[in-house]
Amino acid sequence: MATIIKGKALAKKIRENLKVECDKLKEEGIKPRLAVIMVGNNPASKVYVKSKSKACDEIGIEYEEHLLDETITQQELNDLIQKLNNKEEVNGILLQSPLPQHLDINQAFKAISYRKDVDGFTPSSVGKLVMGGDTFISCTPYGVMKMFEEYNIDLTGKEVVIIGRSNIVGKPLAQCCLANNATVTICHSRTKDLKTHTKRADILIAAIGKANFVTKDMVKEGAVVIDVGINRTEDGKLVGDVEFEKVEKIASYITPVPGGVGPMTIAMLMNNVIKASKEQSNKNSTF
Ligand code: NAD
Repeated sequence: MATIIKGKALAKKIRENLKVECDKLKEEGIKPRLAVIMVGNNPASKVYVKSKSKACDEIGIEYEEHLLDETITQQELNDLIQKLNNKEEVNGILLQSPLPQHLDINQAFKAISYRKDVDGFTPSSVGKLVMGGDTFISCTPYGVMKMFEEYNIDLTGKEVVIIGRSNIVGKPLAQCCLANNATVTICHSRTKDLKTHTKRADILIAAIGKANFVTKDMVKEGAVVIDVGINRTEDGKLVGDVEFEKVEKIASYITPVPGGVGPMTIAMLMNNVIKASKEQSNKNSTF
């Protein structure tokens, strides 16, 4: 039976430590502040934004929300981003995805100052991640790396197989694993014979968005299995991309859904906001 990687508990510990750090910053007159931009009325986005504001509240991070009408133009969105880039009190800017179809999210990310890019999505942050510089690591990959650290899972020389090549999960996660000396394979919807790849993974990471996609026969005995997926079944249950009950029997470690990677993502966002406020208040920062 696998050891369950308790993301919820680890995230709580990280948030508690961040609260101590945030209190100290406030004593020095530094008030960490996150600005969130949401365009339109996507119900899932609303839930995510709410949990981010709740986490800020708990830690003592100041929070402002910019709710924009879904008819907003790219220029108007970019103007708001520019305004927040220039607003000294704001340390972190988060643009909630998805955006309405007529808006180009990459263009919007490009407009965010990399010094305030707490999601780690701007080309500068991604470039620095690839080159091994000090940067904001996007929150889900960062959360997964923290889990490895907490459970002493050493990636050196390990075969890591990631299913999913998105800009927010698969690709940055691959870079993080590479930086930790793993041999990394990224699989995606066009990968041929997926099982051949997943079967040889010492560490298998699923970031697909399809309920129970990874079945027991796709997993090597003793593998570490990380489930990034968040899916709702027809009866409203929240499940991951991995068939948890069966895979748990053969894996060495496994993350549950809910209570695994999800809470870690928010904890690492908070971590990045605190980092941003420290960097911005440090006159000698080379960040
Ligand atoms: P995405 O839709 O951008 O990417 C999905 C990836 O899965 C694509 O690269 C695609 O090639 C791959 N894929 C699709 N079908 C496949 C198949 N049959 N075989 C192999 N690969 C296939 O999604 P995303 O934004 O990366 O998110 C992935 C999942 O992770 C979603 O369920 C999302 O809700 C979840 N997510 C969770 C967190 C968290 O905090 N836990 C954060 C971000 C995303």
